[in-house]
Amino acid sequence: EAAGPTIVAGEILVEIMATEQGLGFLEPLALMGPYPSGAPAIFIDQVAKLGGGAGIVACVGRDDFGTINLERLKRDGVDISAVSVSDRFPTGSAFVRYRPDGGRDFVYNIAESAAGQIRLTPEARRLADDAGHLHVMGSTLSVAGLKEIVAYAAKAVRGRGGSTSFDPNVRKELIDGADGALLSALVDDADLLLPSGDELLAAAGVNDEKEAVAALIARGVGEIVLKRGAAGSTRFGADGSRIDCAGFLVEEVDPTGAGDCFGATYLTCRRKGMEPAKALFYANAAGARNVTRRGPMEGLAGFDVLDDFIAGTARAT
Ligand code: ATP
Ligand code: MG
Repeated sequence: EAAGPTIVAGEILVEIMATEQGLGFLEPLALMGPYPSGAPAIFIDQVAKLGGGAGIVACVGRDDFGTINLERLKRDGVDISAVSVSDRFPTGSAFVRYRPDGGRDFVYNIAESAAGQIRLTPEARRLADDAGHLHVMGSTLSVAGLKEIVAYAAKAVRGRGGSTSFDPNVRKELIDGADGALLSALVDDADLLLPSGDELLAAAGVNDEKEAVAALIARGVGEIVLKRGAAGSTRFGADGSRIDCAGFLVEEVDPTGAGDCFGATYLTCRRKGMEPAKALFYANAAGARNVTRRGPMEGLAGFDVLDDFIAGTARAT
């Protein structure tokens, strides 16, 4: 395990949510926010909360939406030296409203916001050159500058004996054929793969969970942790082992961010040398606690808070 912080690259956003469930945004309604957000930001803030070294490559606007994000990341201990500030583009945003059936409606402003201006700057190179781990999210790869940053950072981290993880939450319609090679390389090289639901099957290109795990391990993946929402999670080891972890019983107030909070917790526990079963347990607790708070980053928690949560919360059996 190489020394050096865990790094991510991608969108920093604010999230603004409808206070009442319903369908979309077609009439005036009560909104709450801005909340700091963006999948890479959620992930890296949780790494820092657990005491892990953490850094992010991103771009925000010179506005209050950018400021609340940068203040939060800085407060929690994330290195923001590679976050550039655009004078021309506003910070990205996502409006979300929850449907009664559990679905979500979004209005995004990402590609044409500051988040779309992310580039491989000298500061980004510097961050990558010192990093010990790179976490990549498939969902962010459609942004123009991201592929170059990920390619550079993966090479730098690998070069110094570091490790990588990959969340294959790829929106297929946003990835053209030329990216297929980059995606398969990210999967093949991943020390840790963090799919949720059917993403496991999609990443392997087969229709059965067991076959998918075997195929991915054969391609070189170090370990696979499958996220199952309220049902918990499962960890598959390269040695053929399997550990299931039941979900904690909580009231889900806001599901956004659970997957990233979970993944950051599992990874950080592992980087600290924790056994897979214990890391999985903490990750389940972190994901479950996060859905009990409104705002994707408001339920992130360090070990003290997680230990209290674990002591006071029942699990499904
Ligand atoms: P996202 O919606 O952020 O993309 P995801 O689909 O990647 O999330 P989930 O499976 O929804 O990931 O959540 C990650 C983990 O968080 C789960 O494996 C579980 O441990 C925990 N979790 C999520 N939702 C709940 C819930 N309602 N109750 C208990 N635990 C939950
Ligand atoms: Mg997901």
